[in-house]
This record gives sequence, structure tokens and C-alpha cells, in this order.
Amino acid sequence: QAGGEPAYLKGLNPPQREAVLATDGPLLVLAGAGTGKTRVLTTRLGHLMADGLAAPWNILAVTFTNKAAREMQDRVARVIGAPTEGMWIGTFHSICVRILRRHAELVGLQSNFSILDTDDQIRLLKQLTSVENIDDKRWPARQLAALIDRWKNKALTPDRVPNGEAQAFANGLGAKLYRAYQDRLKTLNACDFGDLMMHVITIFQAYPDILNRYHAQFRYIMVDEYQDTNVAQYLWLRLLARGHNNICCVGDDDQSIYGWRGAEVGNILRFSEDFPGAKIVRLEQNYRSTGHILAAASSLIASNEGRLGKTLWTDAGEGDAVRVRGVWDAPEEARSIGDEIEALQVKGEPLKEIAVLVRAGFQTREFEERFITLGLPYRVIGGPRFYERAEIRDAMAYLRVIAQESDDLAFERIVNLPKRGLGETSLQKVHALARERGIPLTRAGRLICGMEDGLRAAARTSLTRLLDDFDRWREILGTTSHTELAEIVLEESGYTEMWQKDKSPEAPGRLENLKELVSAMGDFENLGGFLEHISLVMENSNNDSADKITVMTLHAAKGLEFDNVFLPGWEEGIFPSQRTLDESGVKGLEEERRLAYVGLTRARQRAWVYYAANRQVFGQWQTSLPSRFVEELPDQHTEVEAAQGLYRSRYERTGGWNSDWTFAEQPEQKGTGYGPGWQRAREWRQSQTASDKPVVRKIAGARAGGATFSAAKKAE
Ligand code: ATP
Ligand code: MG
Repeated sequence: QAGGEPAYLKGLNPPQREAVLATDGPLLVLAGAGTGKTRVLTTRLGHLMADGLAAPWNILAVTFTNKAAREMQDRVARVIGAPTEGMWIGTFHSICVRILRRHAELVGLQSNFSILDTDDQIRLLKQLTSVENIDDKRWPARQLAALIDRWKNKALTPDRVPNGEAQAFANGLGAKLYRAYQDRLKTLNACDFGDLMMHVITIFQAYPDILNRYHAQFRYIMVDEYQDTNVAQYLWLRLLARGHNNICCVGDDDQSIYGWRGAEVGNILRFSEDFPGAKIVRLEQNYRSTGHILAAASSLIASNEGRLGKTLWTDAGEGDAVRVRGVWDAPEEARSIGDEIEALQVKGEPLKEIAVLVRAGFQTREFEERFITLGLPYRVIGGPRFYERAEIRDAMAYLRVIAQESDDLAFERIVNLPKRGLGETSLQKVHALARERGIPLTRAGRLICGMEDGLRAAARTSLTRLLDDFDRWREILGTTSHTELAEIVLEESGYTEMWQKDKSPEAPGRLENLKELVSAMGDFENLGGFLEHISLVMENSNNDSADKITVMTLHAAKGLEFDNVFLPGWEEGIFPSQRTLDESGVKGLEEERRLAYVGLTRARQRAWVYYAANRQVFGQWQTSLPSRFVEELPDQHTEVEAAQGLYRSRYERTGGWNSDWTFAEQPEQKGTGYGPGWQRAREWRQSQTASDKPVVRKIAGARAGGATFSAAKKAE
């Protein structure tokens, strides 16, 4: 390095450089999206090693996802031009697992402990609640699971749970059950996700000599996305940072989007109190987005109160305005985005520079089908593709058994889902008989129920009831539409109810997915046609070239960037979500707005915001209002392409937001601009539908009836 600066510093602006070089003491880089926070962190990591300040294992770097960890590893390797073995880069969870394996015995585990998933966790809790004679209907185990998770996010061990909170479950049994659960986990040599962090904290607090060892080792600590840390993670960082006090956190209060999972934006706001003498660096130049996109995003987030506030600028030029499009309905939204993407492709844009970012998981379905129709490769990140999701497969399994009673795989999947007291032993008997006679499980089930010594009484009753249900559903199919049937089946089987009772954070999303499934079925003439369509969709899903469109939720998109970003579904009730509007008040709304900000600021070159005037929810058409966030995008940075005569709404904002009316009913009176164009759009739509059906649908319709499930089975 003699005779000048190392190359990795050259491209940085002065505050970025300052942050990279300020290696001693606490440092907070507090800056808006795209200002190079992650880049600073990476360069800093490289600098520490290149400058000989630290060996790879002296550095602890926490990222938000495993993917981000891998990326950081690659980038650091590039900065210093050498491999980075021995570095501690990973998510909070992955780092805690690594630490916990070394000291497991201190919390009563062995180092080969297993990590339970949510299903196991709930099964275990259910055993415990039934020992206490707790009515599972009134106090579902899932609710307890969510509660325990919340406590663990706050690093509350059973004896530290405040009395008031323990009252929240089964008349004060919460803490007792929590303790029993922890004991059971120990016996099983297992822990759940929340334990990983909490056990490590416990060890650090109880064994100072161990903590000291880590102090000696981790001379430098770095944390990305600090605004989304929860209380436990924060405590953990404080404990570790006490050693050398070299902690560098980067984050953006405007991008705090995990409050609903216990993240505390307060952590970042309090940084200088928690780490006295902290240096704070602010970055203001945005290197990611062009002018219009940045300005639109900044102006959107300005509607939030209680933010630190930042100025951002770019010298990347104005670029294109944010394109705001009103479309007739969700299928048209998918068609329009598909068309745009094809146009980008023609212009030579790689697909991996294109992202569709949705608010809720159920929204991906419409796009996935459109992309399959158009033959555009895509990947869904942060979750399985729509038809591969557990709840969708479960619901499909019911429908498959109705369509074809010999579909054993499907029957097995749901025979005891929701739980109806059909245990392993009973099912094995059914299986044995089916094998012996060479008949499907449903038929064997019938036979065995008729036998004197077949099953225990309770099992026999509930299996008979299930088989009767299937017979009845099959009969109904003759007289009702297949979409109605689906609703009936989900309802009568108790499947929907199972998720309604579920208090885990994923449950509402699963319910939305089920509704979306019913809506999707409406596009097909009958059940056979739909099931065949699914098998085609599933078949299409194995194509592994790197250049693909990315489809994911806004939450999963944090920290990423793409040249082209599509933001569909900006409608009241979708985004902001109905749940937020109903339950979380202003605080929730502000979190939704931050999510919108995260979405827009993912775009480098071009951003599209879409809203549909009509959306099918649970098979019912509903009119929807454009999101208030659409309204908050300033005119001078947007280009409203009111496709087919739909214009952006123009509200009198003085009286506050009025969501009591739907504009389809009173378009003229409200002065929304949905005048004659509205009618034209309707006519245009009607003229289009006949010829514009997706290709897959035609194929499915043609062969409806002889539906095969081969692909769906394969995927299982
Ligand atoms: P987010 O808040 O979304 O996580 P961020 O602040 O972490 O954003 P980065 O992802 O680090 O921002 O950087 C955004 C983009 O700007 C990246 O493509 C990065 O390579 C680029 N960039 C950052 N700093 C510079 C710089 N000094 N010169 C050129 N490009 C830069
Ligand atoms: Mg970042």
C-alpha cells in the first residue's frame, strides 16, 4: 500500500471512506436506501483484513439472509483478492447455531441437538396442553407457540416472563407451560428457532469466561439492516460488543419492516445512548436509482411521522418517471406486466434484472401463470411457488380425491388433516387391506369400517364420516359449480378452520392463498380442467437457467436491487393490507409505507406501479380503490399511463381518507376521473376476453375430464 491508497478505497465518496476507515469504537451508518451502506460494510470488512487489523476469524458480520451472507463473502473476496475462509459471516440464526453447538451442554443439550420446525413445535405443545386438560379449541397450541416465540424474541426465559403476559394464555398457565415445554425440549435434545439466540444469551450471561473467549476472538462486529433487529438480537450484540467496543451497524429507519415480528426500530434510534462515544456517519448520495425514482420514493416516505429524515440525491440523471398504471383487473395486470417484460426482453434486458415485488404471497399466482403461458422463466424467492405451497397442496388433495377416488397419494395427505383421530395404527390397517386386495385406500377404508374387528370405534366413526363426506361432495359436484364445491369442501372438512385458529404469523397468508386458489379455479370450466391445468403448471416448473425473472414479496426484497421493478397490487386492502388497516392503526400504516419505500427503492432504472380496479377474492369480484400510496406519489415524478381509460383517483384529502365507497358504484359523483373512460374500458375488456384467454387454459379445457395427476404426483 505504500505510495498511495489501496484500490478498494478509490471508488468511495468521502463519508463512505470515513466509515470504512473508522475502525475503532462504535459506528453507526445511518442512511437511506441505495447509498452504499452494504457496500461500506463489505469494504470495511476487506479493509480490516487487508490492513492487517484482523484475521478472518476476528470478524463477526451479521447479514439478514443467508443469501446476503454468501454475497458478502464473494464481495469481500473480490475486495482483498483472496479467499475468506474462517470468517464469521451469517444470519443471527446461523451464527448462534455455530456457537451453541460448542457449548450445548451448558443449557442441558448435546452438541448434536436438532432444531424443530413449527409443526413439531406445535405437536409438542399440544401434548403439554392436553396434560393440563386445556381445551384446544379455546386455547389452541398454536397460540401458545406464537406467545412463546414472542417471549423468546425478547430473550425472556420462563422465569422472566412478566406475570401480566403469562396471564395471556389459559388463565395464567402460560409461563408454566413454557417451562414444561423447555424441559421437554431438553429431554428431546432439541431446540426451536427462538432458542438459538436465547440459549446463547443465557450462556453468555451465566459464564463470563466463555463470553470473554468470544470477546477475545471477535475484535470487530458488523451488522447490516440494523433497523430490523429485535430485543434478543440487540442484547446479544451488546454482550459481544462489550469486549472491544468495535461495533459497526448500518441501517435505515425508513426501511424497518419487521415490526410485526418483534423488530424494534428503537434499537437504531438509540444507538448513541447504547454505545457511548458512537460516531455516526450519514450517507446522502444514492448510487442505485435514477432521479425520478428516488424523488418519488423520498416523497412517499415523507408522509411518515417520527422519522429521522434524510436528504438523498443522485447524479445518475433523471431517468424515466415512475410509471403508474390503472388496469381493469388482476388478470389484466398480469398480462400488462407480461407484455412489458417481453418488450424489455426484446430490448435486450436480461431477465435477472427484472423483479415483480408483491405485498402478499397469494399475489404471485397470477404472475406465475402468465409467465408460464408466455414461456418466460421465473423464480419465486423466499417461498415456494404458489401451487407448491403446503396449504394449496392440501386443498388440491381434497379436490383430487373428489375427482378420482383412487388417488391414494392425495388421500393419504389429507386423511388426518385437520386431525380427526386417525392415527398411524389405523392407517396402517387400511394400507394393509388395500395392498392385500389391490384396491384404492378409499375403498379399503370403506371395507374396513364395515368389519367387526377392523378399527377402534372412534377411528371407525371418523373415517366413515370422512368417506361419507367425499361421497356427498362428489354428488354435489353434479349440481354446483366447482368453485362453490371447493369452498364447501374447505369449510366442511374443517381445513379452513384449522388455519383460522392458527395464531402463527404465517396463518393469515395461508388463508389468503386458499382464497386465491378458489379464485383461480373460476377461470376453468370444471374441476377436471382445473386439475389438468395444475399438472401442466407443475410440469413447467423445472427449468434451471440463471436468467430468470424474480418474483418475491417486498419483505424478501430488502437490500436487493434490479434494473426493472414491477410493483403490482397497489390497492387499499392489498397494500396497505386489510389486516393493517383493521388492526394496527397509524403505526401499522407507517410500516406499510416503509414497505412501499423499500419496494420503489429496489429499482435502478425503471419502476412500474400497478393497481387494478377489480380483483377476485374468494371467487367474488370486488372493486378496489387505488392505494393511498399511489396518491402520495408526486405528479412530477410519475407518468400515469391510464390504461384503457382508468385514471388515477383524485381525492379531496382534507377530510381524511374515505374508504367507505367503491368507485365502481359512484364514479362520476366522486370526481375521480373515472368518467366515460370507465365505460370504454369496460367495453374494451368485454371485447377482449373472448380471444385473450391464456394458452394453457385452452389446452386444459380441451382435455378436461380425462385429467391426469402425473405431474402433481411427481412433485410430491
Ligand atoms: P439498501 O438500503 O437498499 O440496503 P444500501 O445502502 O445498502 O441499500 P448498497 O446496496 O450498498 O446500498 O449500494 C447500492 C448500489 O450502489 C450498489 O449497486 C453499489 O454497488 C452502488 N454503490 C455504492 N457506493 C458506490 C460508490 N461510491 N460508487 C459507485 N457505486 C456505488
Ligand atoms: Mg443494504
